Amino acid sequence: LPLEFQKARIILEKIHNAGFEAYFVGGSVRDTLLGLPLHDVDIATSAYPAEIKQIFRKTVDTGIEHGTVTVLDHGDDYEVTTFRTESTYQDYRRPDSVQFVRSLKDDLKRRDLTINALALSLNGEIIDLFGGLEDLKKGLIKAVGNPNERYHEDALRMMRTVRFASQLDFEIETTTLEAVTNNAHLLEKIAVERINVEWIKLLLGKNPKKGIVGFLDTKLFVYCPLFNTMEQVLKTMLSLEQLHFSDDVAAWTLFCYLALNDHKQIRKLLKAWKCSNELIANVQSCFSALELLKTNQFNAWNLYTLGLPAFETANLVANMLGFARDIAAIQSNYESLPIKNKKELAVNGGNLIKDLQFTPGPLLGKVLAEIEKQVVCGKLKNELASLEKAALKIKNNQ
Ligand code: ATP
Ligand code: MG
Repeated sequence: LPLEFQKARIILEKIHNAGFEAYFVGGSVRDTLLGLPLHDVDIATSAYPAEIKQIFRKTVDTGIEHGTVTVLDHGDDYEVTTFRTESTYQDYRRPDSVQFVRSLKDDLKRRDLTINALALSLNGEIIDLFGGLEDLKKGLIKAVGNPNERYHEDALRMMRTVRFASQLDFEIETTTLEAVTNNAHLLEKIAVERINVEWIKLLLGKNPKKGIVGFLDTKLFVYCPLFNTMEQVLKTMLSLEQLHFSDDVAAWTLFCYLALNDHKQIRKLLKAWKCSNELIANVQSCFSALELLKTNQFNAWNLYTLGLPAFETANLVANMLGFARDIAAIQSNYESLPIKNKKELAVNGGNLIKDLQFTPGPLLGKVLAEIEKQVVCGKLKNELASLEKAALKIKNNQ
């Protein structure tokens, strides 16, 4: 058993000793069987949250209304979730109320895919009630139970289905794929933030083309923000020889490059997808760097304002598009910039006000901006005396 499970054994043992059942469940069981690294270990139990809180000294009510209590143990934390069913689905979204149950079977039944519905017991036995092991072996993404009903209950599962196809490089089983196609329109009921998470996991997966094919064939893309006109863009992505992304910035930058005519439309698209302002800013920088790599004409000022990470990520994207540049040369150009940010400038507003009787205001800002640019481009030496001399000259020329 992986180390993560060995460490977590004690949690299962304590629950057992108190007279309840407990199992490892979900992604960690799937990933262990696939020999993949684990990120979190989920535990499911017949004990109710109040009972879990009596068994362990330190717990946090992370999602107690859904039955999840975080157990803290020797510096590690584990999400322990009571077996539950989700019978009251409204609006095709995940239910806001759940029923706690004592049976593992009922808990596994409500899970989305057969490969996600496996449990692992304390003695190392796999509980496989829905053929998940066989599907893992065959490399199949298949809904638990009646796929049509399952997607009706929670439409996000459709995005998870294509996401796992990419992430694991698995095929989507036929009736499951049909059910996604038939229910694709229900995706409109799902919060954009949650669709976004799955879309990015799809793009960052092992075989993003496989995920995109599913996303296209089932028409799920039509029901994603501003994507109904993006069929050609998605197909262009499929036509690229290499399609692999280091992170969400790279993924969105490639998408924007293929989809948008100019930089100004990035914000609108990513806002529609509810991306954070930080991500939007990073994509904008990376997009600008990508355009500069394309023409292969950029200078110290471009490196300084956009930053090295934007160029590094852009070059990975440029590689997929067939115009990657010599990144070592770009890195060394960046390293030899006279300054890397404004704070390293040998002069500031205070100096100019005190020494040269500048007054605070727009002119001061303009002079400083000009000095910054000339220092970055190597036209001025970064030392107080020469910068003050230059400041006076610039001021007099205004
Ligand atoms: P990841 O590697 O992305 O964490 P995961 O399978 O662990 O994959 P989670 O979102 O962490 O995915 O969910 C944990 C488990 O909960 C899943 O394996 C699955 O059994 C169940 N699950 C999650 N989301 C849904 C859903 N929308 N419908 C049904 N079951 C779900
Ligand atoms: Mg998980």
